[in-house]
Amino acid sequence: MLQRVNAGNKSLADYRSIVRRELYEELQDLSDRLRGARVLHVNATAFGGGVAEILYTLVPLTRDVGLDAEWGVMFGAEPFFNVTKNFHNALQGAPYELSIESRAIYEEYNRQSAAALVEASEHWDVIFVHDPQPALLKHFSDGLSPETKWVWRCHIDTSTPNREVLDYLSPYVQDYDAQVYTMEEYTPPDLDLPGLVIVPPAIDPLSPKNMALSADDARYITNQFGIDAGRPFLLQVSRFDPWKDPLGVIDAYRMVKEKVPEIQLVLIGSMAHDDPEGWDYWYKTVNYAAGDRDIFLFSNLTNVGSIEVNAFQSVADVVIQKSIREGFGLVVTEALWKARPLVAGRVGGIPMQVEGGGGILVDGVPDTAAACVKLLEDQSFARQIGRRGKEHVREHYLTPRLLRDDLKLFAKLLNV
Ligand code: UDP
Repeated sequence: MLQRVNAGNKSLADYRSIVRRELYEELQDLSDRLRGARVLHVNATAFGGGVAEILYTLVPLTRDVGLDAEWGVMFGAEPFFNVTKNFHNALQGAPYELSIESRAIYEEYNRQSAAALVEASEHWDVIFVHDPQPALLKHFSDGLSPETKWVWRCHIDTSTPNREVLDYLSPYVQDYDAQVYTMEEYTPPDLDLPGLVIVPPAIDPLSPKNMALSADDARYITNQFGIDAGRPFLLQVSRFDPWKDPLGVIDAYRMVKEKVPEIQLVLIGSMAHDDPEGWDYWYKTVNYAAGDRDIFLFSNLTNVGSIEVNAFQSVADVVIQKSIREGFGLVVTEALWKARPLVAGRVGGIPMQVEGGGGILVDGVPDTAAACVKLLEDQSFARQIGRRGKEHVREHYLTPRLLRDDLKLFAKLLNV
């Protein structure tokens, strides 16, 4: 069997006071219809990035409402992750030449993972495959029950894909019973997706990453990392990755510093196991910061885990997400939920999240710097947009809504 992840326990009842009553009732109806259904989520890593983040909440909640949900991580090692990272970038539009060797590596890990699934000979009503890494699982899982419904969940923006990679993956993806995308605009052009469903992701308001922290508690944590509590700070939390543009964030911070000399910058990045590029980019960013004592670089490897991320997000004067390409941008949702004023790139799922008025959309470095300065100088405006962002997230992007959308899809596929 694939490596199982123990995602712990959660109870939907705890979310009752946070979400609307109708949603809660809808969830109860769906869970009655789906009671006992066996659902397996498969992705490439139990740690780092948005997908793992979602599954740590979604899987236990799905279990709590009566389904038998599990999470398995496919087989992977560096050569495979190098290829899939390239696929990921190529699907987001990066140039890439698909070689026979890359395909062979990709197919081999998918074949092995599928073989492990088949060998375990468990019955699954739904197998929910996340992102391109395990996309060939269905293809290689011939020995599984034909009754099993297969869902492929694409978390990235594939609207301007590298054609070669898209053409290679498309037949496999089309073969799934449902293809779930975050938004219509992310689907590849001219590709017929017979089971297309649109479901934006969500954050867990009760996880250590997002639970309410008092300003005092949050400050107590951030102070321990050497931030000067008497001076404002800008924050970006994201993988160290060119698409997240940490170097651009440093450029913007330098421009802000000309106007607001006391400003500090905190960059937090997690090092994911399936992201070999992360390390190169981490060192690039460290060098770019050039020893500036007002720039703080942290990662999960320097003890900045969920609670610490929460604390920094809860008290940042401005949260930046200067992405050049983005999937949905869960980190934006997290910042909005904490009612922080946001400055974010006009890409991926960010505009949709900022629609409610919770932030300023920007293009490029000078724009980013100008928006930060505006928010630092006009605190009442900053507070106002912070509040709007929070309400927008409450309405659209909390996990119970995502659970509802998933259960709806299962009910449709399983005809119950
Ligand atoms: N994250 C984290 N620590 C870090 C960097 C990122 O916990 O140092 C989390 C972040 O809070 C968010 C997720 O990783 O929940 C990133 O998801 P997002 O959709 O923003 O980006 P992705 O990495 O999936 O492209």
